[in-house]
Amino acid sequence: MIVFNSSSEMTDWAKGQARLGRKIALVPTMGFFHRGHLELMQTAGRHADEVVVSLFVNPIQFGVNEDLDSYPRDFQRDADLAQQEGVSVLFAPDVDDMYPEGFQTTVSVSSLSRHLCGADRPGHFNGVTTVVSKLFNIVRPDYAVFGQKDFQQLAVIQRMVKDLNMGVEIVAHPIVREKDGLAMSSRNTYLKPEQRKTALSLSRAIAMAQSLFNDGEGQTTVLKREVEKEILSFPGTSIDYVEFVNQNTLEPMSIADNRTLLVMAVTIDNHIRLIDNGQLALISC
Ligand code: AMP
Repeated sequence: MIVFNSSSEMTDWAKGQARLGRKIALVPTMGFFHRGHLELMQTAGRHADEVVVSLFVNPIQFGVNEDLDSYPRDFQRDADLAQQEGVSVLFAPDVDDMYPEGFQTTVSVSSLSRHLCGADRPGHFNGVTTVVSKLFNIVRPDYAVFGQKDFQQLAVIQRMVKDLNMGVEIVAHPIVREKDGLAMSSRNTYLKPEQRKTALSLSRAIAMAQSLFNDGEGQTTVLKREVEKEILSFPGTSIDYVEFVNQNTLEPMSIADNRTLLVMAVTIDNHIRLIDNGQLALISC
């Protein structure tokens, strides 16, 4: 596995692959890999000849009071894991390389970025779409793999790629969970044992909504009330949002159907914010 820290070296390598007719799949990450990241890498390997994983804790997608400085990092462990997955290139640029002095361009997907996580984290998705655009220009991938855990990020990126004719095929990977249902996240490392139990409130609430829906309840006001009750029955939870939305437009739905997505963000003990989502039918938690 090659490690590149500079974007120009990364692009030179990518151009060489294109000349050889070899397809590239990119997996953008912020590192501190868990099984979710590794599955994305495996999916990337099924789509293309070469897998490039980017590892970059992107400062412009963090708000001022968020966890940029404390975000978990372990480069050597990540590099070892990526190598074991057969990744061709680990691209780990420096912040100065990505955002040199004078940097001032933003890529913004307007309305899709505003509500849900965008309302709680103003500017977050502009940071994501800007860095992903840069990564696409640097790595020149044919495919890029994103997790459905970050459902709004996925919708925003799909919109951006379509609107700007980026020519990258976006591949969505299902949510990877712990045995007990907790969606894997690098931020789960912040959870103390009691908070780890509380974190199950999200997947439990999704399972409950799926079962109510399968029993015939389609009114989202009713489903939302029950979901909120379930989450709040766990100590230390506060709800940032619970919504039932169309998967592509993320518009709220009043009557649920099989493809309706239940999306939620919950804060534990006032400082650990977790997100999760599940389709009302067909997916089990
Ligand atoms: P991150 O390093 O957290 O920015 O995530 C990098 C990529 O991994 C994103 O596309 C995420 O959606 C995806 N991802 C993170 N956690 C999971 C998970 N539990 N299941 C599936 N994909 C995930």
